[in-house]
Amino acid sequence: MKQIILTGDRPTGRLHVGHYVGSLKGRVALQNSGRFDEIYIMIADAQALTDNAEHPEKVRSNILQVALDYLACGIDPAKSTIFIQSMIPQLTELTFYYMNLVTVSRVQRNPTVKAEIQMRNFEASIPVGFFCYPISQAADITAFRATIVPVGEDQAPMLEQCREIVHKFNAVYGETLTEPEIMLPDNRACLRLPGTDGKAKMSKSLGNCIYLSEEPEEIRQKVMSMYTDPLHIRAQDPGHIEDNPVFIYLDAFCRPEYFEQFLPEYANLDELKAHYQRGGLGDVKVKKFLNNVMQEELRPIRERRKEWEKRLPEVCEILRKGSEVAERKAAETMADVRRAMKIDYFEDGNLLK
Ligand code: ATP
Ligand code: MG
Repeated sequence: MKQIILTGDRPTGRLHVGHYVGSLKGRVALQNSGRFDEIYIMIADAQALTDNAEHPEKVRSNILQVALDYLACGIDPAKSTIFIQSMIPQLTELTFYYMNLVTVSRVQRNPTVKAEIQMRNFEASIPVGFFCYPISQAADITAFRATIVPVGEDQAPMLEQCREIVHKFNAVYGETLTEPEIMLPDNRACLRLPGTDGKAKMSKSLGNCIYLSEEPEEIRQKVMSMYTDPLHIRAQDPGHIEDNPVFIYLDAFCRPEYFEQFLPEYANLDELKAHYQRGGLGDVKVKKFLNNVMQEELRPIRERRKEWEKRLPEVCEILRKGSEVAERKAAETMADVRRAMKIDYFEDGNLLK
C-alpha cells in the first residue's frame, strides 16, 4: 500500500511555535525521510470559514502567510504538495455524503468540538458548518487516501471520528476508503504546547502565541513576560516546573549544546530544573536562557521566510500547481466513492442497467 501523508492548518493567522513543535517540524522530518510516496499539506480555508464566515478577508490574507511559514520551516514543494482546501470541490462533495453516516450526538460528544465551542462562546448559536467540521476533516483525510496524519494532540478525537466514518462507509458501501493513523510528536512537551499566558494551548485565536515570523525583540519581550510558577515569588522560594510554560518550552526547544553556549554553569536541563525546584534560581535567569534558545531556533526560520517574502508570485504559483495536483487525486477517490454508492449514473450507461 502507498504511504501517504495528509495534514494542514487553518489560515486564521500566521503559524506559531506550537504548530512548529506539534506538527510542522515532524512533517519536515517525514518529508525528508523519503519514506512516503505522496505528501499533501492543506491550507484549510474552508474550515477556517466555518467560524470566520464574516471575516473572509482574514482567511484570504492568511493563506500566503501560512504558505510562507511552511516554506520557511523547510516544507519543499518538490517533495510535498501544498494546496488550498476550497480549490478542491470534491472535498465538499464527500463531506455531504459522509454527513449521512454520523449522528448529531456523536459530533456533540467529540471533546475537541466541545472545547472549541466553549472557547468561541458558541454555546447558544453554533454555525452548522462549524459543528460539521470533523466530518469535513474526514473528507480531507480520506480524499487523499492518507495513511498517516501528523498532528498535535488536540486532533486525536478528529482522527478517531474519521476512522469511524471510514469503517461505516466501508461496511455500508463496500471496501472503498483507506483508514488513516494519527502520528503524534514523540516529545510530550510538544503534544500541546501551552500559551505564553500559561493557558493549556497556544492558539492563534487566544492571542498567546510566539509566531514563527516574530522579530528578535518581540520574541524577547514575549519570553520575558511569560507566565511562570505563581508560587515562586522570590528567587529563593522552591519553584514548580510542572505546568510552568517556561520549562515546558525548554523541554520542547532546548538542545544539549545550548547549555555550553549560553548557561555553562549547568550541565543540562535536569540540573537547571533541580535547582529551580530546590529554590535559589530566579525566573529572570531561566527566561533569559529560554530567550537565547528561542532566538537560535527561530532565526533560520525567520531568515528563510524573508527570502520567500521577496518571491510571492512564485509562492502563489506553488499553491496553484499544488491545488491542481490535489484535485486530480481527490477526483480519483470521488470516482471510487460514486461507484461504491451507486451514484455513478452516467458511467457506462449504469442508470439503464
Ligand atoms: P485556531 O485557533 O484557528 O484553531 P490553531 O492555533 O489551533 O488555530 P490549527 O490550524 O487549528 O491551529 O492547527 C494546526 C495544527 O497545529 C494541528 O495539527 C494542531 O494539532 C497543531 N497545533 C495547534 N496548536 C498547537 C499547540 N499549541 N501545540 C501543539 N500542536 C498544536
Ligand atoms: Mg485549532
